[in-house]
Amino acid sequence: MRGGFPGGVHPSEKKELTAESPIKPGPAVKQAAVLLSQHTGAICKPAVKEGESVQAGQVVGDSDAFISAPVHSPIDGKVALITLQSHPVIGRAPAVIIVPDAVNPAKRPQPKPQERFPLDLDIEKYTPQQITTAARKAGIVGLGGAGFPTAVKLEPNPEKPKDFLIINGCECEPYITCDYRVMLEWTNQVITGIRLARKATGHPKTIVAIEDNKPKAVEALGNALKRAPGCKDINVIELKTKYPQGGERQLIKSVLDRFVPTGGIPPMIGVVVLNVATAAAIADAVMFDSPLTHRVVTVTGEAIARPGNYYVAIGTPVKELIDFCGGVTQPSAKVVIGGPMMGIAIADLSTPVTKTTGAVTVLTKEQIGTVKFTRRQTPCIHCGRCLQVCPERLNPTRIAHAVKNNLMDIAQSYFINACIECGCCSYICPANIELTGLIRTGKIYLARQKKLMPS
Ligand code: SF4
Ligand code: SF4
Repeated sequence: MRGGFPGGVHPSEKKELTAESPIKPGPAVKQAAVLLSQHTGAICKPAVKEGESVQAGQVVGDSDAFISAPVHSPIDGKVALITLQSHPVIGRAPAVIIVPDAVNPAKRPQPKPQERFPLDLDIEKYTPQQITTAARKAGIVGLGGAGFPTAVKLEPNPEKPKDFLIINGCECEPYITCDYRVMLEWTNQVITGIRLARKATGHPKTIVAIEDNKPKAVEALGNALKRAPGCKDINVIELKTKYPQGGERQLIKSVLDRFVPTGGIPPMIGVVVLNVATAAAIADAVMFDSPLTHRVVTVTGEAIARPGNYYVAIGTPVKELIDFCGGVTQPSAKVVIGGPMMGIAIADLSTPVTKTTGAVTVLTKEQIGTVKFTRRQTPCIHCGRCLQVCPERLNPTRIAHAVKNNLMDIAQSYFINACIECGCCSYICPANIELTGLIRTGKIYLARQKKLMPS
């Protein structure tokens, strides 16, 4: 079995809360807040005006920039407002607020029936350009959390080497099971997306990588690939369960034993990595011209009354989603977008679901008292554990110390921007120093200095 990358940790998985919960329709939206920044790259400009009627799937924001992706309305309704809205990553960002024509709880969002994605689809009828254009038009971005516009990844650039397409089904973050359910339930759609992505990128070798704690997903995708035409050379490989195995750079090291240069991107070494849910979205966009208006979100945590995996309209406020899952059953202390390692705690529950929201995790007061990195901080004891677990071989304590003292040039000299914000250093620190939080703050501060992010 492969599985080698430096550092990493083994946090408690906690996936049993939702792993056996099939994907169910999410709430009927009472108000959608479609953020104009849901991806890496240029923020969209509004493509609609206040008071304008919109239809489900209509573009409500777009940008001419190469690295960007349009955003669409998930519902038929009216634009009530274009305003600043809480954003899970950057604090606040402009959003198009849409109220539905009518809230119909009986008419909840439904994914497409899987019979509509036959394994023997003739993909030869689509050109690479058609596939890339469909992904751009649909506003698809990396659904694993990175949010990089997929069309840019798929762009068949003759200048770049073409070697491996890696499909990422690791889902190494604790608690989250949305990708796992997509692999089990949308198997044909994922395979169709993989075939289309391979055609678009022109990468001859394709590997599907899944952690060994998901044997059912390995079996489902492996069996389906045997039945799909032209897919016998696509291997499903099991990787050791270790966090952050699903990080793009760690995955490439584990699967191919290659390093992506610091500050570089995988295409520089002939590799493209796509998440399994992103592959599914590509199939929907190419075959049915469907924009990315909904996604699967794991709503989880011991405090949630009905944890599960839900097909949710992008723009749904987190509070609506928690209420839809029966609310909380015990005193909860922290609502996190994502999982406990890499997720971001939010204070404002009107924060909407975005394209990259794989999970909403509610941690209890009891957990907050026992999770290491939220306990009372003590001074650094120079134990070096944060250096040992860092998968990017950084010096987290030096970077965090520099950020704390506003010495950003020193933080940069320790490669602050190479940090993938995996949270391993905070998790392991016996002094409970919030190293990742400080590093994340430093990166935001630098981005604002360079005007890459709104203040
Ligand atoms: S410094 Fe960054 S990459 Fe390294 S362990 Fe900490 S969060 Fe992860
Ligand atoms: S793990 Fe914590 S205590 Fe140990 S060296 Fe790093 S910051 Fe200091």
